[in-house]
Amino acid sequence: MTRLGYAAGVRDAHLSMKQHPDFETAELITSGGVFHALQGTARAVRRKVELDLPSKHCYLEFEWRNSIEDEGHGAIHDHQLSESCWMEIGYSSGFLSTCIGGDIVVREIQCGAQGASECICVARFSHEWDDVSNDLKYLDPGYLSELATRRPTIPTESHPAPVSTSEETSAADSGRVLIGRSGTFDAVLQQVRRVGKTTATVLLLGESGVGKTALAMHIHESSERREMPFVEVNCAAIPESLLESELFGVEKGAFTGASASRSGRFEEAHGGTLFLDEIGLLPPAAQGKLLRVLQNQKYERLGSNRTQQADVRLIAATNNDLGTAVRAGSFRSDLFYRINVFPITVPPLRSRLGDLPLLIDHLVSTFCERYRRTPKGLTPNAYRAMLHYDWPGNIRELENVIERAVILADDGEALDVRHLFTSDAQFRGIGLHWLDERGKLVGRETNSTETSKEPLAPEATAWFEAAIQQPGHSLEQIEQAVVMATLRAYDGNLIKTAQHLGVTRAQIDYRIKKWGVDPKLLASS
Ligand SMILES: [Zn+2]
Repeated sequence: MTRLGYAAGVRDAHLSMKQHPDFETAELITSGGVFHALQGTARAVRRKVELDLPSKHCYLEFEWRNSIEDEGHGAIHDHQLSESCWMEIGYSSGFLSTCIGGDIVVREIQCGAQGASECICVARFSHEWDDVSNDLKYLDPGYLSELATRRPTIPTESHPAPVSTSEETSAADSGRVLIGRSGTFDAVLQQVRRVGKTTATVLLLGESGVGKTALAMHIHESSERREMPFVEVNCAAIPESLLESELFGVEKGAFTGASASRSGRFEEAHGGTLFLDEIGLLPPAAQGKLLRVLQNQKYERLGSNRTQQADVRLIAATNNDLGTAVRAGSFRSDLFYRINVFPITVPPLRSRLGDLPLLIDHLVSTFCERYRRTPKGLTPNAYRAMLHYDWPGNIRELENVIERAVILADDGEALDVRHLFTSDAQFRGIGLHWLDERGKLVGRETNSTETSKEPLAPEATAWFEAAIQQPGHSLEQIEQAVVMATLRAYDGNLIKTAQHLGVTRAQIDYRIKKWGVDPKLLASS
């Protein structure tokens, strides 16, 4: 229930931010936001608000009156519970973490389920509480799977052993992080936990930068082979002619340049895990050899007759659609079926934006520590820009963006949009402007991600060229013609027109008022 609430809170926070793009963080939380949104399940009353984002201080105290959860759970458990508003705790944690852009943990310090007239809650940054492992375990998918497998004979008072939270599993060495509480990401972690203990071949699918390497390491570390080597091969990074010797090793004199015998990655990974990244780009000859090893666990070094026994757990990853590659004949179908034993699709960052606050929080402190920088938090505008950006390069891009910003910002200065993004970055649905390095106001307003950045098609360009052959057209007249044509095409619908032209509704509104156009008259019916 806590997790369910958390997910709902994240979603509602995104909605609120969309509805009130001009609100500061504090306004978002207090005026609309959490107090308003909780009305359905409890009557929320604000008691105390202390919020200082740059120094990462948060103390919000609020009451819930007539909580549905108190009544429900309280009655079932005969009012023996210490706290019972699980969904509301989750909801406000998710909502506040998303609005504030940090890891906010909400605790119920008095609950109506014990007979009090109202519940009292306090929200603080996780680092401001003593030990939050107990709070966080309810947000951790590992705890859920443990609950599901726990035998009913265990008395309910006994506290389960603390389960590592997602945060602790971050693969710090690889620089890529496995952090997240969103449903989509949890689903991935659940699958990883499940398959990790086995020796099954795993196929990780997903765009580049989503953290496939970190997941592969995590699978290795949760397997019984964790003491043995983890060997990574990026199939795209090795020239085709060297790939086989790289994988299987080479005997001295096998070809010109093979001046010494050398083991391959299969040999290095013996007893451990071999991670083949970008397997979709494996050349056909290497595909055949790999298939043979997978079929009978045997291989030879290049130029050697001595057959060696392979003992590796294979994890493969690709951002190509292997099914299509098989149909196109560029990837062997028999190899595809061999490696497609346990496919896990890793979602792109833009489909798990609810995880951004935690990721940002983690990365900012990681890079501050690494570069010994002390920037003063993140501006609300910077945070909002990150929430409205599409992240085509996924987690890797997020890491790069934050690393760069931490280096660029002066100590004591808050990280702002200009530290994070260049002036041509595109954001979804918000009018976002900021000052660039030279103090110039920059920024884009787009309502649509579908607006193409490509130049116009030749026919369209030719049409415009013909139109301006006639003398005396001002830019505004041409603009008016384009806007009016678009409006007519959408029956006078301002929102669709704005989306089509990649501007805001307000910009269209402003223009047609200036031109004295009534959009209702443009509707065809
Ligand atoms: Zn309560």
